[in-house]
Amino acid sequence: MGERRVPLEDDPRPGARFYRAEYLVARQVLDERGGVSFGSVLEVAGRAQSWLTGQVANVWDRPEVPRVACREGCTWCCFLAASAWPMELFALASWLEQHRTPEELAGIRERLRAAVAEGDRQRAAAPGRARRLPCPLLAGGQCSVYEVRPAACVGWNSADVDPCQAYAEGNDEATCTVEPLRFFSARAVSEAAAAAVASSGGPEFDQGGTGQGGPVDLSAGLLAVLELGAKRAAESWLAGSPFLAGARERMERPPPSIVAAVAQAGKT
Ligand code: SF4
Repeated sequence: MGERRVPLEDDPRPGARFYRAEYLVARQVLDERGGVSFGSVLEVAGRAQSWLTGQVANVWDRPEVPRVACREGCTWCCFLAASAWPMELFALASWLEQHRTPEELAGIRERLRAAVAEGDRQRAAAPGRARRLPCPLLAGGQCSVYEVRPAACVGWNSADVDPCQAYAEGNDEATCTVEPLRFFSARAVSEAAAAAVASSGGPEFDQGGTGQGGPVDLSAGLLAVLELGAKRAAESWLAGSPFLAGARERMERPPPSIVAAVAQAGKT
C-alpha cells in the first residue's frame, strides 16, 4: 500500500480540487471503517456517486461553465464502449441485486453476455476501431441504472448532438467537443475514490489506470461481478483475485488526442 500524491489546494487543473476533496473524505471513511471491506468500499463508492451527481454537478450549472447539448432521452454516447472502476461495478451490481428480480437479473446477464460477444466480434473484425453497440443497460431509450451509472457516463458530454450521432452511426471522423470541467471532475472524483481504496490496502493501479485497481470495460466487468454476486466479487477483488482481467483487457480508452484536446480546452 502506498500514499498517493494528492493535488494541492491551488492546483489549477480542471477537476483537481474535486480529486483532493474526494480523496481526503474517502480516506477518512475507510479509516473510520477499519480499512477496506465490501461494506466500506461500497460506502465510498456511494458517497462519491452522490457527491458527483449532487454538489459537483451543481457547479457545472454555473453561468461561467459552457453549456452542453446533453439532454434526457439522448443516448448516442451509450452506443460507445464505457468504462467503470471496480468499486463502481460492485455498487452497481449490489443496486441491481436489490432492485431487480432473479429473472430480471438473469436477463441482464444475458444482455451483457451478448454485448461482450458482439464487442469481441467487432474488435476481431477491425482491431483498433472503436466499438459501436448499445449499452445493455439501456431500456426504453433511457439508462435503466441512471442513479448508479459509472462516473465515466456522468462526465461524458458534448457541445453538439450531431457529431455524437454521426460517430455512433459509424463515422470515425466525427469529433465531439467535450466540456472539460464535467469530463475531468467526474474522472477526478472516481479516480480519487479508487486511489483512496488502493492506499488503504486495496488493489493498486498506476497513473495510466493499469493494474488490478484500475478501470475496466463496463459490460464485461459488470457481467463478471454479477456472475459472482456483488459481495463475493468485491471480497475476491480485495483479496487479489484477477477475475476482472478479461474486462480490463477489453476496456477501450479515449484516444490520447481526445483527452489532450479536452485538457487544452480547459486552459483557454
Ligand atoms: S450505464 Fe447508462 S449512461 Fe452508461 S452507457 Fe450504459 S445506458 Fe448509458
